[in-house]
Parts: sequence; structure tokens; C-alpha cells
Amino acid sequence: SKKPAANAIIAPNFKFEDMGIGGLDTEFSAIFRRAFASRIFPPGLVDKLGIQHVKGILLFGPPGTGKTLMARQIGKMLNAREPKVVNGPEILNKFVGQSEENVRKLFADAEKEYKEKGEESGLHIIIFDELDAICKQRGSTNSGTGVGDSVVNQLLAKMDGVDQLNNILLIGMTNRKDLIDEALLRPGRLEVHMEISLPDEFGRRQILKIHTLKMRDNGIMENDVNLEELASLTKNFSGAEIGGLVKSATSFAFNRHVKVGTLAGVSDDIENMKVSREDFMNALQEVRPAFGVSEEELE
Ligand code: ATP
Repeated sequence: SKKPAANAIIAPNFKFEDMGIGGLDTEFSAIFRRAFASRIFPPGLVDKLGIQHVKGILLFGPPGTGKTLMARQIGKMLNAREPKVVNGPEILNKFVGQSEENVRKLFADAEKEYKEKGEESGLHIIIFDELDAICKQRGSTNSGTGVGDSVVNQLLAKMDGVDQLNNILLIGMTNRKDLIDEALLRPGRLEVHMEISLPDEFGRRQILKIHTLKMRDNGIMENDVNLEELASLTKNFSGAEIGGLVKSATSFAFNRHVKVGTLAGVSDDIENMKVSREDFMNALQEVRPAFGVSEEELE
């Protein structure tokens, strides 16, 4: 039997790379099919099938791997309102009741619009970064204030209340899935879980391509820079760290055109500035990956 395409919804020639996201095609396709396809079904089909839209997803994995990029892009692809972005620590508040109020407010705009427009309402996306921060204290006996508990409860109440509200999608993000309250991860809540891990060599090449696109287009990258080579030299780098590497390389290139002993004096040949392989090699000495590196790999 023929295996169906991972995602027939997204055209085969669609390039996530063109959206500035590298190395996550498989994850992105799968999440789109599992969590969002129903949003673009023909009218009435969701009812006929007797299913409900996915109301929440969880993206988990190490920092700097593109979770936020992806969440925002999902919003664009679904023609959603500009997403609301909050993070766990920011929601927590030392004043009694204020944290719950913060959660309530998150949903308020979507609820209001749904009341006014019903199914015609636009889709509201809430991106909840560092979701683990509100979960940590739940159930633990030595919790300081127990604020986390009531925030999780408030969030659960909101998610369950969203039953009638088809216009809300919550995207939770965390580096620590193990800390997320299981109640939040059940069907009907944050039900689709997707791990976003560090990019492999192919992914890193894509990310390098993305982050050097401008300088290549503008002719300020030397021909001796080989992105394949760099991809092989950046094992364990996250997308964010690859971005940092490129930035560091440009700083070395620029450094050659600064007049000695001046802070802002730039030499006349600044127009000739080009980022070279050597700049990247220097950058590799100072930008190192934070995760997943064993001592021997550093040798
Ligand atoms: P955190 O867990 O720290 O919130 P995150 O996974 O949400 O991290 P992002 O905020 O999406 O990471 O990534 C930070 C930056 O790193 C992006 O703005 C982008 O410049 C770069 N980056 C990360 N991952 C990718 C990727 N897969 N493709 C291209 N750029 C990436």
C-alpha cells in the first residue's frame, strides 16, 4: 500500500525555508495536518465528521530551535489575528488573584469577538512561552504561594470553556515537557504535542542559508564560505546559535575595516567588506552550543 503524503494540504513545492524557518519541514507539515487542517475544511465538514477543532498544541524542545518562529508562522498561514504572546513568569504575580486575572484577560478579546460574530470571528492565537513556569508548583507540598496551582486551574477552566468557542488556539511552549501539568496535555486542551529538537546537519545548512541570505544577495559574502562545511562544523548548534555564529562572523569581517585605536572610525574601504571563511572559523571559536555537547566533542 502506498504511504500517504505526510501532508497533502501543504503543496509539495512549498518551502518552509522561504518563510525563514530551516530544518523543520517534517515537524511543520505534521503539525499543520494534525492541528490545523480542520480549520480550512469546507464549511460544515467539521460538523459532519463530528469532530472538534484542535484548541491547543504544545511545542517542546531545547531553547532557540524555532518554536516561536513556528508559532507565529502558523498564525500567518491560518490568517489569524496577530498572536498574543505571553510567558509563564510574566503571568505570575505576587498579588492574590492577579495571576488568574492575567490569564482571564488573555482570552477576553477572543471571547468578546466570538460573542459578537460567532463562527465569523477571526482566529485568535495565544502563544504561551515558558509554560512550565506556571506548572512547577502544582501539587508540590513545599510550594511557596501555590499561585501556580490556581493559574493552571484558571487556564484549564478557560480551555474547557473554549468548547463553544471555535476561535481560539493556544500554543504552549516549553523546554521542559516533563514539568507540564498532565491535566493541561489532555485531549481538548493542549492535545497535539510536537518535539522541536536541535537541527541535524541538513537542517543546519538550511538555517545557515536563511541567515546568510541577505549577505549573499548583497554580495558581501566571500566565495570561500562553504555552507555545507559550516553545517558539518556546527553540531549541536540551535537555530538561534547559528544566528549568533553568523553575527559573530560579520563582526570579525567588520573589525578588519575599523581604523586601529578608534571606536567608530571606519576605513574608506568599508564598501569592500566581505565575510570570509576565516571570519566564520574565528566565530566558531567564540560561539559554542549550549546544549548536548560532551567534553570529547569539544576536543
Ligand atoms: P525559546 O525556547 O528560547 O523561546 P524558541 O525555540 O522559541 O526558543 P525562537 O525564538 O523561535 O526559538 O528562535 C530564536 C531565533 O533563532 C529566531 O528568531 C531565528 O533567528 C533563529 N532560529 C531558531 N530556530 C531557527 C530555525 N529553525 N530556522 C531559522 N532560524 C531559526
